[in-house]
Amino acid sequence: MAVNKPVYLDHHATTPIDPLVLEVLERTQRQFFGNPASNSHSFGWGAQALVKKARQQVAALIGADEREIIFTSGATEANNIALLGAASAAPESKRKIITTTLEHSSVAGPLDHLEKQGWDVVRVGTDATGIINPDDLIAGLTDDTLLISVIAAQNEIGTVQPVEEVARVCHRRGILVHSDAVQAAAHLPLDVGALGVDLLSLSAHKIYGPKGVGALWVRRCHPPLPLDPCFHGGGQESGLRPGTMNVPGIAAFGEACRLALKYRDEEVPRLQGLNKRLLDQLQEQLPGVQLNGAGQPRLPGNLNLRFEGIRAGQLMPRLTVLALSAGSACRSDDPAPSPVLLSLGLSKQEAASSLRIGLGRQTTEEEVDFAAERITAAVQKLRSENK
Ligand SMILES: *Cc1c(COP(=O)(O)O)cnc(C)c1O
Repeated sequence: MAVNKPVYLDHHATTPIDPLVLEVLERTQRQFFGNPASNSHSFGWGAQALVKKARQQVAALIGADEREIIFTSGATEANNIALLGAASAAPESKRKIITTTLEHSSVAGPLDHLEKQGWDVVRVGTDATGIINPDDLIAGLTDDTLLISVIAAQNEIGTVQPVEEVARVCHRRGILVHSDAVQAAAHLPLDVGALGVDLLSLSAHKIYGPKGVGALWVRRCHPPLPLDPCFHGGGQESGLRPGTMNVPGIAAFGEACRLALKYRDEEVPRLQGLNKRLLDQLQEQLPGVQLNGAGQPRLPGNLNLRFEGIRAGQLMPRLTVLALSAGSACRSDDPAPSPVLLSLGLSKQEAASSLRIGLGRQTTEEEVDFAAERITAAVQKLRSENK
């Protein structure tokens, strides 16, 4: 089978919309322009019904109650509402937040902001595995700790974090737990009850849905979880995300969640197989290829590879037939080494010689073989030129 070029291997940055999701998006856009806040006519009711269905589909993906889903414009907004909202609602006696050095900028950014405002923000690092040791997080817990935020699966190195272990201890001590589960959502079994978290962020466009829509899951409890709104206006989404809802995006996000659940059991082993096929070919044909971060537990379509003696900034312009990334997507135009890779203990040089490969739902064996061949050739050529 011929390979369509360029080959998209950057599924951690975004995913192509699934054809079935696109159908829902288009149909909703065309047929349901009503405002779900309109209670007095059928245009509003039609939109309401679609939003309700999507709420159930998103809730089903994470084992939640539909009333706990707050639709947002994406995970960046969900993370900000969770972190800034919890901080704003905190009692004076709680001034500490614990997080990791593995967080996405949409978690790290609001926490940097809180730190400037006087919060005590502790960032726990990892060893070369890229997996947080829960004891390191737990050791930092004090009586004035408000919240812990831990990414569920890392977006550069794909490592899966022990959220459940951390949450178990935090809960006993009345500390809130937030997790950015954007990368985990398509491939890991996510059950908010079993995980024991209080707040969880999702994004549609990382699971074959449209861009510009996501959700914050907020645990329903008595008394309600203390969360102040960051935005003010209408009362939509329990007052936490006022504004007219993105009905087509939300309906499509629901469909993307339904498909993620449907495909997960076959997709995970398939991607693991392709990942292994790619890594094996590269390591057989090239000396000095190292995997950054532990092999397991890891997202099934993630490889973050270090090529000794090569700079990713030199390699990528020669591999434009492949869509790859150096570091995280938000930084790929920025030659600065990835802070996440540095936090694993890699040197600047090692971090700068690393590439992220993200396989996805449409990736085929032929594409993987093509990628292996092209990467091998480009690395061999560069190494000989660098001599
Ligand atoms: C992409 C991503 C986000 C941001 O999601 P948006 O919907 O694009 O705002 C947050 N966290 C992680 C881990 C991501 O990969």
